[in-house]
Amino acid sequence: CDTLEKAASFVRARRTPICLPNYVAGELKLPSSTSTAFIDSHEPKTGALLYRVPCAQPEDIDEAIRHAKLAFQTWSKTSRAERSRHLRRVSELLQEHRELFAVWESIDQGKTLERARIEVDRAISNFSYFSTYILHEQTAARVVDGVALTYEHRSPAGVFALISPWNMPLYLLTWKIAPCMAFGCTAVAKPSEITSMTAYLLGVLFQKAGIPAGVVNIVLGDGQTTGAALVASPSIDGVSFTGGTQTGIAIRRSTAHQIRKHLSLELGGKNPTMVFADSMGPVTRDRTIRIAGSAAFENQGEICLCGSRIYVERSIYSDFVRQFTEYVREKYVLGKTVGAVASWQHYNKIRGYLQLAAEENATFNLGSVPAPLDKDDNRGYWIAPVVLTDVAPSSRLQRDEIFGPVVTISPFDTEEEAVRLANDSEYGLAAVLLTTDGARMRRVGEQVEAGLVWVNCWLVRELGTPFGGMKNSGTGREGGEYSRDVFTVVRTLHLPA
Ligand code: NAD
Repeated sequence: CDTLEKAASFVRARRTPICLPNYVAGELKLPSSTSTAFIDSHEPKTGALLYRVPCAQPEDIDEAIRHAKLAFQTWSKTSRAERSRHLRRVSELLQEHRELFAVWESIDQGKTLERARIEVDRAISNFSYFSTYILHEQTAARVVDGVALTYEHRSPAGVFALISPWNMPLYLLTWKIAPCMAFGCTAVAKPSEITSMTAYLLGVLFQKAGIPAGVVNIVLGDGQTTGAALVASPSIDGVSFTGGTQTGIAIRRSTAHQIRKHLSLELGGKNPTMVFADSMGPVTRDRTIRIAGSAAFENQGEICLCGSRIYVERSIYSDFVRQFTEYVREKYVLGKTVGAVASWQHYNKIRGYLQLAAEENATFNLGSVPAPLDKDDNRGYWIAPVVLTDVAPSSRLQRDEIFGPVVTISPFDTEEEAVRLANDSEYGLAAVLLTTDGARMRRVGEQVEAGLVWVNCWLVRELGTPFGGMKNSGTGREGGEYSRDVFTVVRTLHLPA
């Protein structure tokens, strides 16, 4: 295909869904192995079969790693200025094709087009941010008591496996690819088998951008065959993974004997939103409701940072439940501001939790248990927002990551209780704190067990700040110098004075 438009329309033009190719050594090609299994990928909004994903086999993965290793020999020695130019070119091309990527992200993942545009813009920023970051890096030097001068020297850490999930496919994949390339590493990336379309288009875009062959390779496939073989390969020097906690545990286990392998694990969350009575005064009430609403329902609740457990000070509890429910009913409308959930399997997972809510006699202030859906049903995977109250703290509804348009609301009496409830989770990714009390912002904010705490805001991101979770939400941080820590090795040189 000589243009990205043709590469994309190719997928729609066929009667029989096409098989997406891998991108290896600068070429788009199907896996060669005769034992290749295929996964059908469906369009969430209609349930229609969209394309097929070939599961790259160990020999395909070895080939991709071989090319990444070869490319590393040159790429790791390329000047920062040149690497920066390549990243800038990718961001410019993405900008040029912004709408194409957004349309396909929306088709493939089920999200609204508006939401997809935001994420493509963030993918563009990933490349533009790291293209300039590397031009302004500093090295720390120290003088030790007049006897030595020490300085830190960093080198690219090698070939990385970059594995991403299905909820923000292009944004999260490029959040790994951009710094990996910028810091002089090469990659074998694997998107989720549920949403591989924009990863395929990104491969086409890398070709157009003239990225040297082998610097980024993209293999498609599932977790059990392709992902597991990729991370376990002894030729992989590091893994940057975003996905579920159970998968993170599996990756840790399979690489436990490879101490030298860098691991960055960005995992699941079950994030609290804490609403204090002072935030529901006449001036700030609308803002409080709006933030709690977007934290719960943006992208159908399919963002790891979504606030799916809302805790509200008892004096305003009933008012909040009523106003919040009204707001969500008006703002989050299925098919307009709420998309379809990503897959038939995910629809059933969310439906299972809502059946549990009904069995446990939770109150459905909004929404209901969605109807059963056959796999080949062409209605699409639509679940309207659900607002639950009267859910016990021990319920799986409050403990498991549902990752859908479902929120629970519970009351608290004191600040201490709010902190205790917020921290009563195996996860520690993000938290939202809604209050007008300046002292409380810091007092509570500093006690919440979460890698990211937002006060009177949500999803504010600056790409240099550390991103990552506490507890079972992951290890390591990414962003700016934290990404540099993931993708480089440091040696300290000591020179006598
Ligand atoms: P998942 O863990 O099932 O899959 C994520 C990726 O890992 C996919 O590409 C999958 O094919 C691959 N994979 C699966 N098993 C593997 C294995 N054994 N070895 C190597 N790779 C394997 O997660 P998902 O269902 O795609 O995504 C949803 C999860 O991602 C949620 O838990 C969500 O919270 C989390 N998430 C976290 C962040 C974050 O930044 N912390 C961001 C987005 C999503």
